[in-house]
Amino acid sequence: MAFEGLAERLQNTMKKITGKGKVSEQDVKEMTREVRLALLEADVNFKVVKDLIKRIKERAIGQEVMESLTPGQQVIKVVKDELTELMGGEQSRIAVSDRPPTVIMMVGLQGAGKTTTTGKLANHLRKNHNRSPLLVACDVYRPAAIKQLETLGTQLNMPVFSMGTEANPVDIAKQAIEKAKEEHHDYVIIDTAGRLHVDTDLMDELEQIKTTVKPDEIFLVVDAMTGQDAVNVAESFNEQLDLSGVVLTKLDGDTRGGAALSIKAVTNKPIKFAGMGEKLDQLEAFHPERMASRILG
Ligand code: GDP
Repeated sequence: MAFEGLAERLQNTMKKITGKGKVSEQDVKEMTREVRLALLEADVNFKVVKDLIKRIKERAIGQEVMESLTPGQQVIKVVKDELTELMGGEQSRIAVSDRPPTVIMMVGLQGAGKTTTTGKLANHLRKNHNRSPLLVACDVYRPAAIKQLETLGTQLNMPVFSMGTEANPVDIAKQAIEKAKEEHHDYVIIDTAGRLHVDTDLMDELEQIKTTVKPDEIFLVVDAMTGQDAVNVAESFNEQLDLSGVVLTKLDGDTRGGAALSIKAVTNKPIKFAGMGEKLDQLEAFHPERMASRILG
């Protein structure tokens, strides 16, 4: 289970403080020391941890908490609020263009779960928002990637636009949007090429697609299991493309939590969805508050 180690440690720390009728500065210091270690061990970005602990300390040692009737619980509330804020506060929504189709560009490294997530997102839009998406295969470098998207389209009974491996991805994206207009699709989800590493060719191509089709959303798909690597990948993609959000995949695995807890703070872009399994209905809106509650028990 994701966050298992972190959740256990934080819950143990919080237990010590829950019922306290009086909380001393020393208690808060001890608590933040343990929270700090637990977060670092969960592979949360060092600077993110430092800032977070500073905020928790400031608020927890504040008069309002110390002089309240239930200081122990107030301290825990501070930790929960700050963890929620760290992951993005309010849950963010998916864009709707006032001139359909709404265009979503999916980007990410190979293996992160980009193509699967493209299918999951299309399924989500149809099921929960009654939309009619067109899927677009822009990964022309790997015939298997086109095939994979087509297979997902068949499973979902949803159209996939592709022009094979010979066409230019920018042209494919442009023509797909024309087709979506003709056939009254209100969403276009573009599955772009992934590489094993962030490289300039990949970024140039993605920038060209972005400039040409002016997407309403650019979602980066990253694998939660890769921890701080996911955060670094998010930073690079965000610098180049100015992402609108992140989809964190494989949160059903036993990730320690570092990516989920660092990405928003490092990139200032929200995690919008979480992948919770390989199946097409295993995509969930990412709720920072629920996630914080899950971690703190
Ligand atoms: P891409 O190369 O980024 O397009 O990655 P794929 O979509 O092909 O996914 C790579 C692998 O990760 C596949 O085996 C997927 O089934 C798997 N995968 C994708 N998302 C999730 C997820 O949320 N949870 C789990 N457990 N596996 C996932």
